[in-house]
Parts: sequence; C-alpha cells; structure tokens
Amino acid sequence: MRENALLARIASLCAAAQPGLIVPVGDDCAMLELSGRRLLAAVDPVIEGVHFAKGTPGRLVGAKALKRNLSDVAAMAARPAACLLQLTLPPGCSEDEAFEVVRGVHETGLAFGCPLVGGDVSVGPAGCPLVASVTVLAEPWPGVEVVRRTGASPGDHVFVTGALGGSLEETPGGAHHLAFVPRVELARMLASSAQTRPTAMMDLSDGLAQDLPRLAAHAVIEIPRLPVSQAAKKAAQKSGRSAWKHAVGDGEDYELLFAASPLQSIPHELAGVPITRIGSVTCGGGVRLMVDESTLLPMDGLGWEHRS
Ligand SMILES: [Mg+2]
Repeated sequence: MRENALLARIASLCAAAQPGLIVPVGDDCAMLELSGRRLLAAVDPVIEGVHFAKGTPGRLVGAKALKRNLSDVAAMAARPAACLLQLTLPPGCSEDEAFEVVRGVHETGLAFGCPLVGGDVSVGPAGCPLVASVTVLAEPWPGVEVVRRTGASPGDHVFVTGALGGSLEETPGGAHHLAFVPRVELARMLASSAQTRPTAMMDLSDGLAQDLPRLAAHAVIEIPRLPVSQAAKKAAQKSGRSAWKHAVGDGEDYELLFAASPLQSIPHELAGVPITRIGSVTCGGGVRLMVDESTLLPMDGLGWEHRS
C-alpha cells in the first residue's frame, strides 16, 4: 500500500457531487453546508509506535491527537467547534492510563475552544497498540471564507510558518511532534485581511517534500531561504545528512504552508510566529529545490509517505 495511490482512489470514489458538499476529499478538512450553515470536519489518529513511542504520557498523547486535527482546521483558516474521541486500548491498559489520554484531549480542547463532546472506547486484541482517533468539527470564522489547498497560481510566493525539521528530537520545550502549537489564530489573522489572505494553504504533516506537491504541482523552493529548526540541525549531526534535508523531509512540522500573490504584503511575523518566504509557484517543471544558484533538484524521494 502506498498512501498517495490509495488517497487518489478514495478521492475518485468520492468524487460524485453530493448535495451540500462544498469541499470534498483532498483538502485538510471536508466542508458541507447543512441547513444553510457551513460545517467542516476532519479525522486523524495517533497510533502507538507510529505517532508516539510506548511510554509517552497519556496526556501528551491525547493532546497530540487533537492538535493534529486542529492543525488541519488551521490549514483551512477555520474555527474549531467540538471534537469526538475514538479510543482503542491495548488489552491490560488501566482505566487511569486511558483516562489520561482523554484528559489530554479534553484540556487541549478547552484551550482551543473545541470541547470534547463524545466518542467511544474499545479494547483491541492482544498486541494491539493504543490508538486515539479524534474527529474535529469546525466552522468558518464569522466573515472569513475558508482557504483551500487549490488556488495557487504561477508567480505566487510560497511561505511557511515557524521552523522545519527534527520533530522527533528532544529539545528544551519537548520534542516538537508532541509540543507543537496548531496555528489556528495565525491562520485566522492571515485569512482575515485581503493584504495577507493566502491563495492556497495546508498544514505540513508529512514533510515539505510530500506536502508541497499537494498545494502546487510546479514550484521552486530555495534551500538557502528555508527556516531550518535547531532540532533539524541536531538531527543532522546524528544522521550525517544535511540539516536542510531534515527540514524538507522529516515530517510532523504542523506548520502552515501557503501561497500568496507577490502583490500582497505578508509580514515576517504574525501572532508571535515567524513567517518565511521559501520560494515561488512556477508554470512547469514539477516541484524542485534550488540548492544554490546553479543547482536545481527534483524534490521526489524526500518526505514521509505511509506504506505497508
Ligand atoms: Mg493537513
């Protein structure tokens, strides 16, 4: 199984127009219109051994499960409304351990105006890992249209928030893949003003190399511009690979990737978070990396694609 191929089949299966469906499969959230109101929904799990290590405190697991989804809500520049939790427990998991995961979802939900309102608990078979799957419901901010992945045009500039790479590295604030803050408020501010409103936006979960082609089929990313995190530099010292390769390929950045017209004025910082221009959308050539003035490389082969 390759994730991208499976996603393409699912998108084609669900492509038929459904009444009230405004944003179908293929964006960070689906959007429906129900009784005249727009509702966004997304679902994403965290799986022990894949998205967190065995022994990770339950509260951090629950918080991550919801924050991954809040990052998808941010990617649409929407307002979180409520969440549901489906918890699959390994046999032998204690009530207290399970409750810590629920508490992590609940507390994070309160902090983001996204209360936990329901869900389900089940126990898996022997050897089953803990899985916490959160469904998030959201709505457009009043007076602010959601931002979709489609909409980038040749000539648009490409930006990212924060710094990229090394999300698994332990840092003073904790490993980024657990400690990240979903960019809900930053996205609202960006989308609220014509001067800054992105033409297209998504969040970075699988790494820039995997995610950028989902935003723009053709683009050039300038490596010297990339905001490489301290954690990516630390990872590079251990791996012997360039820090920029970690920034492009590691995944779980949960930062925003967006395009905007060169006529707009994107600030260097918003809501206390740096914003960096990393390249441009182009007319052709696929997605490429400009390593220096004379070297352009295809971006294929970097980044994280789920396979089985
Ligand atoms: Mg996403």
